[in-house]
Amino acid sequence: METETRARLIRAGDRRALARAITLVESGRADHREQALALLDALRDPSRQALRIGLSGTPGVGKSTFIEAFGLMLTGLGLKVAVLAVDPSSSRSGGSILGDKTRMERLSRDPNAFIRPSPSQTQLGGVARRTREAVALCEAAGFDVVLIETVGVGQSETMVAEMTDIFLLLLAPAGGDELQGVKRGIMEMADLILVNKADGELLPTARRTCADYSGALQLLRRRPQDPTGFPKALMVSAAEGSGMTEVWAEITALAGWRHETGHHDRRRAEQARHWFEEEVRQGLLARLSADPAIRARMQALGDQVAQGMSPSTAAAQVLALLARGSG
Ligand code: GDP
Repeated sequence: METETRARLIRAGDRRALARAITLVESGRADHREQALALLDALRDPSRQALRIGLSGTPGVGKSTFIEAFGLMLTGLGLKVAVLAVDPSSSRSGGSILGDKTRMERLSRDPNAFIRPSPSQTQLGGVARRTREAVALCEAAGFDVVLIETVGVGQSETMVAEMTDIFLLLLAPAGGDELQGVKRGIMEMADLILVNKADGELLPTARRTCADYSGALQLLRRRPQDPTGFPKALMVSAAEGSGMTEVWAEITALAGWRHETGHHDRRRAEQARHWFEEEVRQGLLARLSADPAIRARMQALGDQVAQGMSPSTAAAQVLALLARGSG
């Protein structure tokens, strides 16, 4: 199909065209890559922006239940919601975190929602690019909110935070006073910490957990991109659907403030710069492994390094080869 036809269908909100375009950006084939880049260029329109929300939490914390409840609340407000998943570990099972059809069943039937499972891909660089481009496609297709879900495993959070406007961390109520081993780095990324399962017997524990995290967040250094009171911790029950409007109110307040103060544009500009540099890095790595001569040289130098050659000297030789190749 022609790029222009594809672009027109996507701009008109055609879901099948959108789904096919996401498949296209996921493809590793060189000719697909070319088509994907042409399509993304044709669709570029900085005036069509969605609110990009990242959501992280360990398996079992209630992410899909939350997305279903939150997503339905948003579509109930007349908003169009896209859900994407980042799961660099999904190659383990060959499946994906959104692959299970029973997840988000009601939301997946909602005509104003679009849910895209995570493809199984091992390389985080590949996942990042695919997700970023899928976000761009969803924005072009006119979605108001793009939710990006990720499992709570280290690097993927950082990656999602670097492509979203707002970052949510979902936690379960926990007994005792330990902060659930949540890494400081992840806490610092969060704009809102949501203590889920604040219902039934878990309510008192959820209350205590929420208070603990509120306290912990207040100890963090104030970030320039935050108005007073942020980041904050809230209680929700995804199962009962409680707290959803409050979460949305906090998100829109925060996003609104960042728009007015220029932090939104600045953050997106920084993110664009980051991903540009990352693409160059990834491209260089790809070239390193694609060129048989360079690969052989790396193998040989690797052996020499193992036997005592300076790693820096060896690396310089490889980089010199790359420079010659591009000359
Ligand atoms: P995910 O792995 O993070 O996507 O978690 P799920 O959404 O699949 O939920 C894991 C389990 O927690 C399921 O058995 C849910 O029914 C349960 N759960 C999710 N949200 C809530 C909630 O708000 N309250 C209670 N009590 N259970 C919940």
